[in-house]
Amino acid sequence: MTAARDRYLAEIGIPVWRLRPVAAAGSAAEVAPAVDIAAAASAAGGSSDAAFGDSWSVLAATVRACTLCGLHGSRTQTVFGVGKRDARLFVIGEAPGADEDRQGEPFVGRAGQLLNAMLRAIGLPRSEVYIANILKCRPPNNRDPEPTESATCTPYLSQQIELVRPRVLLAVGRVSAQWLLQTDTPIGRLRGRVVSYGARNTPLVVTYHPAYLLRSPLEKAKAWNDLCLVKELLSQSP
Ligand code: SF4
Repeated sequence: MTAARDRYLAEIGIPVWRLRPVAAAGSAAEVAPAVDIAAAASAAGGSSDAAFGDSWSVLAATVRACTLCGLHGSRTQTVFGVGKRDARLFVIGEAPGADEDRQGEPFVGRAGQLLNAMLRAIGLPRSEVYIANILKCRPPNNRDPEPTESATCTPYLSQQIELVRPRVLLAVGRVSAQWLLQTDTPIGRLRGRVVSYGARNTPLVVTYHPAYLLRSPLEKAKAWNDLCLVKELLSQSP
């Protein structure tokens, strides 16, 4: 264990003595049957992938101008996504909050800082991953996204994933995980294993939202196990 990793673990509030071996979190051999969100995407009604074009600039401009759901009326700006465009890890959150709406970037503020620390703990600085939300506009008062809003916006995320072609997806938080996997299963039962996502069968891992971890620090050890699983998957992929 390196001194740098110990420092990052301390930063996110995980005592070193509590760390478990990677195997305790599950292994890539436990891959579940594929979960495909094609049905959810096709329910989007209006924003088909074909309409996006195949370039980042076209996609970003399309999102910037989007008025496909009611959330456009209350946003300060859209929050497209940020990071390395050929990242090996793609982090997927739920929707922008107040800080994100103001700054135009996903996962900023205290929760964003914790996410950054969690990623650094597995050797991935924020600049090395791609980070985006399911919704590109902030729901009022940080309420959960409505299913119709998620269905409308998901094709933008699908196109981002298609452009990045990551080796591993990390769904962060209950809302993101349940939407992507189209399930009501509690997040505690979704995390700690690998599922196969989308047409490319990309391995997807679920973990807790850093905002939840800030409120429930005892869960950080489980999040660390999830991140170890991500690291293990990345080390197995070419
Ligand atoms: S949340 Fe998505 S679908 Fe709704 S207006 Fe914003 S970009 Fe468009």
